[in-house]
Amino acid sequence: MKTSQFLLATAKETPADAEIVSHQLMLRAGMIHKLASGIYSFLPLGMRVVRKIENIVREEMDRIGALEILMPMVQPAELWRESGRWQGMGPELARFRDRHEREFCLGPTHEEVVTDIIRNQCHSYRQLPLVLYQIQTKFRDERRPRFGVMRAREFIMKDAYSFHADLASLEETYRDMHQAYVAILRRLKLEFRAVTADSGNIGGSTSHEFHVPADSGEDEIVFSSGGDYAANIELATGRLPDPEAEEQPGDCIATETGAAATIDEVCQLLEVEPKRLVKTLIVHAADENGAPGDDLVALLLRGDQNLNETLARQIEGVGSPLRFADDDLIRERLDCPPGCLGPLPSLGIRIIADHSVSGMKNFICGANQAGRHLLNANWNRDCAYHEIADIRRVREGDLSPDGNGTLTVRRGIEVGHIFQLGAKYSEALKATVLNEQGKAAVMYMGCYGIGVTRLAAACIEQYHDQRGIIWPDSVAPFHLIIVELDAHKSGQVRNQAEALYRQALAAGIEVLLDDRDRKTSPGVKLAESELIGIPHRLVVSPRTLADGEVEYSSRRGREKSRIALAKAIPAIADMLSDS
Ligand code: ATP
Ligand code: MG
Repeated sequence: MKTSQFLLATAKETPADAEIVSHQLMLRAGMIHKLASGIYSFLPLGMRVVRKIENIVREEMDRIGALEILMPMVQPAELWRESGRWQGMGPELARFRDRHEREFCLGPTHEEVVTDIIRNQCHSYRQLPLVLYQIQTKFRDERRPRFGVMRAREFIMKDAYSFHADLASLEETYRDMHQAYVAILRRLKLEFRAVTADSGNIGGSTSHEFHVPADSGEDEIVFSSGGDYAANIELATGRLPDPEAEEQPGDCIATETGAAATIDEVCQLLEVEPKRLVKTLIVHAADENGAPGDDLVALLLRGDQNLNETLARQIEGVGSPLRFADDDLIRERLDCPPGCLGPLPSLGIRIIADHSVSGMKNFICGANQAGRHLLNANWNRDCAYHEIADIRRVREGDLSPDGNGTLTVRRGIEVGHIFQLGAKYSEALKATVLNEQGKAAVMYMGCYGIGVTRLAAACIEQYHDQRGIIWPDSVAPFHLIIVELDAHKSGQVRNQAEALYRQALAAGIEVLLDDRDRKTSPGVKLAESELIGIPHRLVVSPRTLADGEVEYSSRRGREKSRIALAKAIPAIADMLSDS
């Protein structure tokens, strides 16, 4: 490809609304063009990167025996009603009516559609397991589209779905998929972490996310310094060092705390640290459907710690989503203002204590009376809980739950997510096969997503410098850029650049020849070759040609070297075959 025939849509200025480096560089390098909030076109340079990523994903899917299909973007409401998600999904699901007033949505994901295919096409357990995948455009009306294609409304995802006669087969495919994701991310040269994750509203039990560590990441991931423990912070548990075992229980006394209601106010008044307090949070218990119902539950945390809502709502009997009781309800039901609650037997509701609270001695808590707190409260003697659970949001430096060192917390970009869905969708959509006994049996399912366009952005987050993108060879839109300088001063330059270009093409190297004329200055040409991040560069100028040489530089290093004209392309072919 020659730049004179290419749409090199580079921009000098950093667009004002681009907050993170990948978004800035994708715009400046001319990879993408914004059409509307969260909706982008991929320009030729960006499209080449997308295709590279897609092909790596495709190869690794094919390698584990997954079969490529393509499902429609437009999906009928009836199918979503069958799974219960037409009601369950919020405004993220973009809905519309056709000319006959029939309801449809734009696919944010394809569990329903693929299950409909399989329930019609697959009748016997002998046809299983089956893994289908597609690389396709998704639409999600994200609440806060931002960061360019990182959190877009329209984006490209590879989504795969597996169908099984038994759980053991699901687990096997899940492991294969896990390994395929590892292989994909390694080929993209991304540093990454696989962490256990919450399966959220998609359902199912076991789930892992793949994260690329980056300060711009919207998630927090937690891993132990000494072991394999790694989890999304939403699911992470940790331990705090045990309090002093030696401490003797003091006399429990009630003290007047007046209007002090928050942890800070009570601490200031009593001149103690927040970690001496036990705080009592009141949430709604689950009704018969698991949703927040009428009954209340108390959750206990150390005063300096925060609640992990994901862990809390996963406790049997706690309403999901988690709903805090409002102040009036607390006053009415518990006969006490919210700031003075404590885990005394008089509270009269189920009490769940975080691990870190259970070892506390001589703590301070509300006395379940307006304007009063207890000092030197102790478990069993003064206060009580019904059960212990992990409901605390972990922090950097906490002890790892596997006993191996301490926890590190990092920001991460979620690039992939795999789930064991179990029978959630197949049951709802009545997707059955005849089992060995000839009886109809519901299939088990897994689903596996990886964000193709988000991966392009994540790659730039990890590989860039002041001057622009630094593509790994495997994702680069071109492997080699040949820049001709001052061609108007010497006919040799044009001829030699053209000859190198043809040699490169013949060697199967993806090459871009910057043949723009003198209107584009040498400085601009060199700067743009760096901005767009092509890994290898040859500069052909009258100066180097005088010695029968070209100048070589790698985008990864700073040094420039001279190579004899005849050796240049073979040398680059060698470097590419090593990478
Ligand atoms: P997030 O928590 O970031 O919203 P998700 O849990 O909704 O992600 P999945 O439904 O598991 O994501 O989708 C699979 C993959 O699709 C994600 O791991 C991510 O790489 C990609 N993806 C999801 N939402 C977007 C988006 N709005 N823009 C770009 N890629 C996305
Ligand atoms: Mg999402």
